[in-house]
Amino acid sequence: MQYALFKAFLDAISTLTSHQKNTLNKALSPELKATTHQPNLSTAIEQKFSEQPSCPHCKSDQIKRWGCSDGRQRYRCKSCHKTFNALTGTPIARLRHPEKWQAYLNGMSHSATLRVAARECGVTLHTSFRWRHRFLAVLENDQGNDLGDIVELDETFFA
Ligand SMILES: [Zn+2]
Repeated sequence: MQYALFKAFLDAISTLTSHQKNTLNKALSPELKATTHQPNLSTAIEQKFSEQPSCPHCKSDQIKRWGCSDGRQRYRCKSCHKTFNALTGTPIARLRHPEKWQAYLNGMSHSATLRVAARECGVTLHTSFRWRHRFLAVLENDQGNDLGDIVELDETFFA
């Protein structure tokens, strides 16, 4: 939208009736949700995995979906019969508190120190230290650099 038009649009907002404001709000909220949607490392790993799933134990691609656990799709290998999810075998497979990962990664992107990142996410310094290593390992393994858009690491974090 052209700036002048947008300005007129903004000015017009104050003249809306409350019913019109409601309607506008309804029209905007899905849009806003879409644009403010935070990319998420664990979702991205799952998505990447689901495009070409294979068993992390025996590398077979003969696998099938096997319910969900902790909000993650599980799979079962038809060859070795083991179950797994997209994170199995990755450095972050056993990390706890996945709901805090993204905030932590965002802290990493903004070169927060370990101490600050830990405090902001409510994890201990010890956890923060371990997480940093695991997440860096995941990113280093990410050869297609598919996760690069999600975590733009500050180089100081590699130091
Ligand atoms: Zn297998």
